Amino acid sequence: MIQPSHFHTDVLIIGAGIAGLMAANVCLRQRRRVILVDKGRAVGGRLATRRIGPGRADHGAQFFTVREDAFAAWVHRWQRQGLAYTWAHGWSHGSLHPSHADGQPRYAVHEGMNTLAKHLAADLQEAGVAIHTGVQITALRPRDDGWQAQSADGVTFSARGLLLTPPPPQSLALLAAGQTTLAPADQDALARIAYSTCLCGLFWIEGAFDLPEPGALQLPGQTIAWIADNQRKGISPAACLITAQAGPEFSRDHWHREDGEVLALMQASLRGFFDPGTRVRESQLKRWRYSLPLTTHPQRFLAAQGLPPLLFAGDAFDGPRIEGAALSGLAAAAHLGAILSPA
Ligand SMILES: Cc1cc2nc3c(=O)[nH]c(=O)nc-3n(C[C@H](O)[C@H](O)[C@H](O)COP(=O)(O)OP(=O)(O)OC[C@H]3O[C@@H](n4cnc5c(N)ncnc54)[C@H](O)[C@@H]3O)c2cc1C
Repeated sequence: MIQPSHFHTDVLIIGAGIAGLMAANVCLRQRRRVILVDKGRAVGGRLATRRIGPGRADHGAQFFTVREDAFAAWVHRWQRQGLAYTWAHGWSHGSLHPSHADGQPRYAVHEGMNTLAKHLAADLQEAGVAIHTGVQITALRPRDDGWQAQSADGVTFSARGLLLTPPPPQSLALLAAGQTTLAPADQDALARIAYSTCLCGLFWIEGAFDLPEPGALQLPGQTIAWIADNQRKGISPAACLITAQAGPEFSRDHWHREDGEVLALMQASLRGFFDPGTRVRESQLKRWRYSLPLTTHPQRFLAAQGLPPLLFAGDAFDGPRIEGAALSGLAAAAHLGAILSPA
């Protein structure tokens, strides 16, 4: 069947991570036609879960916290739906002593964080939202009081309003490729946002791996800043898969080394947790070029001045974590609905 090479919609959302998925939900309730586009093979962005052998491991976000009522309402719904559960109330900090519990629930998702994104996407699709995965947008330009997005495989999208949820350095590159100029204040505000990188090792372990309760350890400032046992987390019943996230310095200093070299260094740092006889059956490396924002924009989203409706949202806006990204997506979409002419 011949696929159409052009799609038109009210709202085009680039990025189907948590910010884009939440935003699409708002647009839907406003009865707008919405298209979501993501370059990944599947939805989720940094809500990422990978299978290795018979096991499963979260290799992006590990858990989420709740600070605001607006997000709490969503999390309670996800709990009622059997998606989210409380994993822990705190982590150990570098010792094998019992975990430091501070009373704040840390939530995880059954079968891995990406399941939450898949669930949100399935609900959106059922309600008529078109989601195009595996489509990389390469340039963005204003056109006819709206926007046109060009993709790497020649497909174009046009929309009355555009919401960009990739990390701002990536969004700015798409606008620059379309020779689109932002107002100087907007350009400066977005150009100030920088991200840390993260090298994340996944290790399929045979034998005992000694982590304190609840099967995770936070080690700020060390070579490996986070270690989690996905089996004890409850998402990998059939195999012990360890997620090890390197700290920002190690990730920066070793970014250009071969996967095998990085994994060997990370495995050496994990040795202290191995019992005699424990062995690594398989390991894989995931590189996050845009892991966590080092600087954030002080508002929940940025609405571009002097151009057709264009908003920027995601975890760089008022909250460098899942909750911040979700609330940013919701707020940006509500604003976009208010400034677009009636559907
Ligand atoms: C290793 C790691 C650990 C983390 N741990 C935690 C944690 O424990 N708790 C927590 O709350 N947060 C954590 N975070 C942060 C959290 O994952 C993010 O804040 C949140 O998921 C960001 O969501 P987002 O929608 O803003 O961005 P993203 O999830 O990055 O979504 C942006 C999407 O845009 C797409 N995209 C980019 N460019 C294009 C293009 N040209 N065309 C089409 N699509 C494009 C990408 O494919 C991506 O899917 C962690 C992040 C990392 C990397």
